[in-house]
Amino acid sequence: MEGMGLLVILFFFGLAGGIVGRIKGSSFLLWFMISGLIPFFGLLTAICYRWEDRELRRQCPGCGRVVKLHDALCTRCGTELEFPSVAIASEAATRARPAA
Ligand SMILES: [Zn+2]
Repeated sequence: MEGMGLLVILFFFGLAGGIVGRIKGSSFLLWFMISGLIPFFGLLTAICYRWEDRELRRQCPGCGRVVKLHDALCTRCGTELEFPSVAIASEAATRARPAA
């Protein structure tokens, strides 16, 4: 029965990771599998996974749209984006420090 116990533990790790991933706007199934295959570390990764609105942003040189720093393509005009030297503060940081 020891094998069954391990499977149950892995299942709950997967479930927890999946729920955390889903809350953060990612795929439930993806984080379910990561956390189930790599228990503890997978779950930890899901918990540490970036919050979308904590991401640094930058402006597309083609159309001026503000996109996430890690985006390789502008979602509006399709311009290929180099990794920028200047980033715009994340949405969370902007909310925390209202413009003077
Ligand atoms: Zn653009």
